Amino acid sequence: MIPFNRPHLTGKELPNIQDAVATGKLSGNGKYTQLCHRYFQERYGFRHCLLTHSCTGALEMAALLLDIREGDEVIMPAFTFVSTSNAFVLRGARIVFADSRPDHPNMDESSLEHLITDRTRAIVVVHYGGAAVDMRAVMALAEKHGLLVVEDAAQAIDAWFKPEGARAAPLGGIGHLAAFSFHETKNIIAGEGGMLVVNDERFVARSEIIWEKGTNRSAFFRGQIDKYGWVDVGSSFLPSEVTAAFLYAQLMELEGIQARRIAIWQAYDERLSALQHRGWFTTPTLPAAATNNAHVYYLLCRDLETRTRLIQGLKEAGIMAVFHYQGLHRSPFYADRHDGRLLPHCDAYSDRLVRLPLFADLSLQEVERICATIEQLMG
Ligand SMILES: *Cc1c(COP(=O)(O)O)cnc(C)c1O
Repeated sequence: MIPFNRPHLTGKELPNIQDAVATGKLSGNGKYTQLCHRYFQERYGFRHCLLTHSCTGALEMAALLLDIREGDEVIMPAFTFVSTSNAFVLRGARIVFADSRPDHPNMDESSLEHLITDRTRAIVVVHYGGAAVDMRAVMALAEKHGLLVVEDAAQAIDAWFKPEGARAAPLGGIGHLAAFSFHETKNIIAGEGGMLVVNDERFVARSEIIWEKGTNRSAFFRGQIDKYGWVDVGSSFLPSEVTAAFLYAQLMELEGIQARRIAIWQAYDERLSALQHRGWFTTPTLPAAATNNAHVYYLLCRDLETRTRLIQGLKEAGIMAVFHYQGLHRSPFYADRHDGRLLPHCDAYSDRLVRLPLFADLSLQEVERICATIEQLMG
């Protein structure tokens, strides 16, 4: 059996957790939380980082920080995970879904301006598979219309936006706010875990308050105020030190994990690109200014029937391949609320995209077995 995902462990997770236990402080914002924050701030230059219990939680913090209210409109791709949308729906927002690009599952930047109305407050971008959305176009549009930008960077750790003739910028470091995931299916994991990145100074102080149940406890512990209390809305978004200690072990191995994943991605791509001429599927292309963080390896099948046959054939050979996403504009929850626009490119990815197993401990022999099975099935 080759599973779709198997969590990779570095071996340092348990010693770190043991150390966290020994410090006698297991709730949030202790030694390991701060080590993780510092790691991200130093490696990527993020302005302010706050670990959360999930990326879903970080997105909910973003919606609170942007002060999204009943009737506000938020633009985001339909081809994404439910949390991108739910976080804003919880605040009463109306979601205006954008279609995907014809050449990539990311949202089509050129389609966004038509979607802006006088109720639009924010654009949420999703870097699908860690591939950068054209952030220069999105930020320019946001500035022109006075909108805020949140990056759903759940899949985008260690990935960059590298437009020609400009400096590379790390994904998650460009929008006003950004959210990362450390769920066990992502590149760097903590079981469940996430992080809010605050790149805009205006949101820094309030982000700590929302993080700490609406209190100014963080400032109190830094000795900046002499008592703390309830000063705003908030919730409990912090992970415990157990989670942070686990995550820190992973971060210490980030380069090795990324190198392994990229080698696997390239092995797939070399072998499978040579089979494209048969006409059953195509291999992924990256948008011009994107780097590859090897979060997903997917094929785009000719049609739904071909994908069904491929997934079934792989399953019979003991190989688990999966598809996603079903466009949120057609979801049971949102179909009635959607404004009815057709999103044909999103629908095409929903029907035709299949993800192959990709995890750091997948051996190149296993990759070859998967590719040989695909070669047989798609003869
Ligand atoms: C995984 C994922 C999420 C949710 O992450 P959690 O940490 O599981 O809450 C949100 N958005 C996207 C695009 C994702 O891939």
